[in-house]
Amino acid sequence: MSAPVLAVENLQKSFAGFRAVDGVSFTVGSGEMVALIGPNGAGKTTVFNMINGQTPLDGGRVLLDGRDVTGAGPRALWQAGVARTFQITATFASMTVAENVTVALLPGTGSPASLRSSSLSSSSLAPAVPAHREAAMALLAEVGMKGGAERICGTLAYGDLKRVELAMALANRPRLLLMDEPTAGMAPGERGELITLVSRLARERGTAVLFTEHDMDIVFGHAGRILVMNRGQLIAAGAPADVRANPIVRDVYLGHG
Ligand code: ADP
Ligand code: MG
Repeated sequence: MSAPVLAVENLQKSFAGFRAVDGVSFTVGSGEMVALIGPNGAGKTTVFNMINGQTPLDGGRVLLDGRDVTGAGPRALWQAGVARTFQITATFASMTVAENVTVALLPGTGSPASLRSSSLSSSSLAPAVPAHREAAMALLAEVGMKGGAERICGTLAYGDLKRVELAMALANRPRLLLMDEPTAGMAPGERGELITLVSRLARERGTAVLFTEHDMDIVFGHAGRILVMNRGQLIAAGAPADVRANPIVRDVYLGHG
């Protein structure tokens, strides 16, 4: 059997003596949608930051397609196929949809880290457009935004902006897509559409997806497998029906509203 796309083993992270992540292990397979859920402060975002290299590990290992990538930084991990959706910032909001996706396709500028610190402007994109425009349009077609390619990102409806951000995250053809609260701020109807889209693309491309989500209808309706975290530890993991029936999970959610 081939290795899972992502395997984390015994992840450990403390902040000033507080154990934010304490012995977390799980895998995510090709084309699989795995939800990481748990109350606020459970350690979900810290786990994401450890997987994409933003937060150094105190202990444990991160394996990508069976390869040990523990300790690699965000840029190396992006190149190795770990992508994360991130919000289009003010600078990029003034650019068109197609321009934003083109930037994500430029070699060496595609990582979220470099995009944040980038001084690229619309005009500096001009030479790159012929080479990457076609690829950008193909990505936009995949997320259903081809018709909006020439719109300014700052004027898009929130749900459309989320689709553009997804196209940008997919530009490097990632093996693993990390989405930390991807539907935050969206109307309930839009949430289902976005996750359905992600789920279809994950299946088609064989991308492994790990996401956090507070909307339990989304989690139980779209995740193939659910991991439940509380106080830095995994307290349950399994198929949605099993997790839903788990009394410990019910306790944690009742206890934290
Ligand atoms: P979640 O995403 O599940 O809400 P987080 O991973 O953001 O949880 O946080 C887990 C715990 O670790 C929280 O108690 C939080 O305050 C703490 N924490 C997270 N990041 C830091 C940091 N950089 N410095 C200190 N404490 C942190
Ligand atoms: Mg979080």
